[in-house]
Amino acid sequence: MTVIDNFNTILLNVKKYSKQEVVVVAVSKTFSLDIINKLIEKGHNHYGENRVKEAIEKWSSYLSRNQNINLHLIGQLQSNKVKDAVKIFSYIHSVDLEKLALKINIEQKKISKNIKCFIQVNFGKEKQKGGIDEHELDEFVSFCKFENDLNVIGLMCIPPINEPADFFFKKLKVLAERNNLRELSMGMSSDYIDALKVGATYVRIGSSIFGV
Ligand SMILES: *Cc1c(COP(=O)(O)O)cnc(C)c1O
Repeated sequence: MTVIDNFNTILLNVKKYSKQEVVVVAVSKTFSLDIINKLIEKGHNHYGENRVKEAIEKWSSYLSRNQNINLHLIGQLQSNKVKDAVKIFSYIHSVDLEKLALKINIEQKKISKNIKCFIQVNFGKEKQKGGIDEHELDEFVSFCKFENDLNVIGLMCIPPINEPADFFFKKLKVLAERNNLRELSMGMSSDYIDALKVGATYVRIGSSIFGV
C-alpha cells in the first residue's frame, strides 16, 4: 500500500461512517517532506505536527513558497515556544493553560494572525498528556474566548488507553455542545472510525497514512 492508497482508504471510511464534513489532518511527524510530498501533490493541504521545532525545520521554507498548506499543532505546547508556533501553524489543537491562551493572543496579534484553536480535554487526568480537567472546561473556554479573544473553534481529546474510546468521544461531544463549539478533533489511526460515528469533524491520522 502506498501513502495515496492509505489516504484513499481513510477518505472512503469518512464517507461511510460520517455524515459531516470532516478534515483529515495527515499527521506527518517524523516523516520527511519527500514522503509527505506525495500527498501534497494530490492536493491534500492539512498536516499535523507535534513538535514546534521539528515543524519549523521541516516546513518553514516550504510554507514561504506555498501558502495553501494548513499546519496543525497537535502536541503539547510550551509557553516559550508560542512565539514560534504562531508563526507557522494555522491551527493549535492543544490549548490547555491560561498562560498559553494569554501568550497565543499576544503573539498572534503582533503578526496579525487568527489561529483556529481547540481546547484539549484530559479525561483520564493523565499527567503525561496535556489537556484541561473536564470540570474546569467551561470556565476556561470563556476565559479563552472572551478575555483573550482567541478563535476557539472546538474541543480535542486523546482518550485514556485501555478504555473504550467511544465513551470519551461522546463525552467530548456533550461538552462541546454545552459550550457552543462546533468542531471536534478526535480520532487517531486506531480509533478514528469510532470518532467518525460519534461526529468528529477533525481526525488526526498518522500511521495509517504514512506507516510507522
Ligand atoms: C501522533 C499523534 C496522532 C496520530 O497518531 P496515529 O496513531 O499515528 O494515527 C494523533 N494525535 C496526536 C495528538 C498525536 O500525537
